[in-house]
Amino acid sequence: MKTLTVSVVTPDGPVLEDDFDMVCCKSENGELGVLPGHIPLVAPLSISAVRLKRENDVTLLAVNGGFLEVQPEKITILAQSAEKPSDIDVERAKKAEERAKQRLQSKQDNVDFHRAELALKRALNRINVTQ
Ligand code: ATP
Repeated sequence: MKTLTVSVVTPDGPVLEDDFDMVCCKSENGELGVLPGHIPLVAPLSISAVRLKRENDVTLLAVNGGFLEVQPEKITILAQSAEKPSDIDVERAKKAEERAKQRLQSKQDNVDFHRAELALKRALNRINVTQ
């Protein structure tokens, strides 16, 4: 059976490189399920979970920002950050969630709401993939 080589890279270095049967991810244009032989494409990634399937196994990654590049036999995910569930510090993510929520609720003018919203999304995404 054909597989897809998946390579996940961040500014901190490579996170994962392995073969999978299917990759599901969320681009800014919608959900994408990629099987071997897919037509080439490039899409911006949302703050979301990437699901890597191999036989009956699913590997999850929390990704944040960046791009997905699809070639028929290879997928490259170039993200601002990408973590496996085992590398996620849940307490840190909960603190980030709390901080972001407080910023969003505050009535102060000096709060960058868009930035706080993105921080909240990153924190919730990290918490989700560990559950
Ligand atoms: P924080 O406010 O806790 O730093 P953040 O969402 O602002 O969270 P990022 O800027 O997305 O953090 O990530 C900075 C670096 O820290 C990246 O390498 C990312 O993988 C890592 N990182 C962030 N949060 C966590 C976490 N909860 N567990 C493990 N690694 C994390």
